[in-house]
Amino acid sequence: MPFATLGLAEPLVRALAAKGYNEPTPIQRDSIPQLLEGRDLLGIAQTGTGKTAAFVLPSIQRLVEANKRVLPTHCRMLVLAPTRELAGQIADNARAYGQFSRLSVATVFGGTSIARNRSDVSRGVDILVATPGRLIDLVEQGFLNLSMIEILVLDEADQMLDLGFIHALKKIVRMLPRKRQSLFFSATMPPSIRQLADQFLHDPATVSVVPASTTAERVDQSVIFCNQTEKQALLTILLQDMPIDRALVFTRTKHGADRVVKLLAGNGIAASAIHGNKSQPQRERALAAFKSGEVPILVATDIAARGIDVSGVSHVFNFELPNVPEQYVHRIGRTARAGASGEAIAFCADDERPYLKDIEKLTRQKVTIGALPEDFLRRAEKIRSERVKAIGADPAPREDRQRGPRAPARPKASHAPKATAGTAQAGGQGRDYANASRRRGGRGRGRGGARPMAQAGR
Ligand code: AMP
Repeated sequence: MPFATLGLAEPLVRALAAKGYNEPTPIQRDSIPQLLEGRDLLGIAQTGTGKTAAFVLPSIQRLVEANKRVLPTHCRMLVLAPTRELAGQIADNARAYGQFSRLSVATVFGGTSIARNRSDVSRGVDILVATPGRLIDLVEQGFLNLSMIEILVLDEADQMLDLGFIHALKKIVRMLPRKRQSLFFSATMPPSIRQLADQFLHDPATVSVVPASTTAERVDQSVIFCNQTEKQALLTILLQDMPIDRALVFTRTKHGADRVVKLLAGNGIAASAIHGNKSQPQRERALAAFKSGEVPILVATDIAARGIDVSGVSHVFNFELPNVPEQYVHRIGRTARAGASGEAIAFCADDERPYLKDIEKLTRQKVTIGALPEDFLRRAEKIRSERVKAIGADPAPREDRQRGPRAPARPKASHAPKATAGTAQAGGQGRDYANASRRRGGRGRGRGGARPMAQAGR
């Protein structure tokens, strides 16, 4: 079904052709006609479904058709997003989709200069993409006025609530004209989100796509059981052996992300970290290097990775499993985007097994058990000693330090054969990653495998 049959105007269809999109995704197909009619919308969808285009395209068309001139310090469409990265990406998409429609687009979010935001909105802007806190600052300081808003979009509402933006959101909505079109998107719909949606929306059309189980089906998933202290060596070996185009590595904490980057560097593998303690320029640099492929390994926490939209992520490594099962689905949804294939590998220590159970319950799917790489213990020891030579003694993971004495250099492996759990063993049954990767595509080490640091431009 071509985009034009959804009722989209020629400049938008041309912009989509320029992006190489041939067919609308299900959420685009289901929501664009309703939004063009001016209806409110409740969209239950996560990133990776094409939801940004679903709300940006009809909104651009309606703004163009209404043909109003925006006044200085005002805006006509407001998109609220939980993180700076997501806000930046929505704005990039809006610029691309609106390239033949002559609307202005700006972003405001924390971590950047407020003076710059002020000047960006001073002449008025058609589409403003913002995080809630900085938006309120600008309004309260008199640099921005929301009384001309025609369209409001609240994106990733569940994440907004998780981040504690509820009061900010309610405050913003009180500043908006009552007569407006409102769109509300969330990946999950627990009662608290539904309540919030009821306050925002008037007689909305509802569109629901991609339940957790469907995302999970698109991604080739596996889990390797190992000790916490073995994860670093395991990651290093897999990055060396597998044909990686771009890999996202998820940790639970900022400290953990930095530690993974440092230890990979000790083995000559360039990676960058992205998390809330990084400055905005650092985050932008890391993301740009990842997108361009210059540094194809990005280590991220959940919040920082929220909204990262990079095509061509071939692998997602769950270095630590998330304790909220929905996060797992968000994480693995970073690969296999827009119909591509992707692989997600989780590392699961003994104390993370309950998290794995929760994940399997949510996705209604068993995760395949993978084997440790062949000759794992010997290679892990070699990796450790090379790293010690390069950067000195390994810092113990935080968990181990909290427990007191340093973890033994060679802990008792949790992957020792267990009759009941079906746990993987080195070179034993289960998935063989190096071979699986070779079988998959013949991309081989020429393109794949982690690039050494010198090659990666560091
Ligand atoms: P989103 O869910 O908005 O984050 O979009 C996920 C990815 O799909 C982004 O990389 C989009 O650029 C891409 N995308 C969106 N719509 C389409 C489409 N109709 N055809 C192909 N790719 C698309």
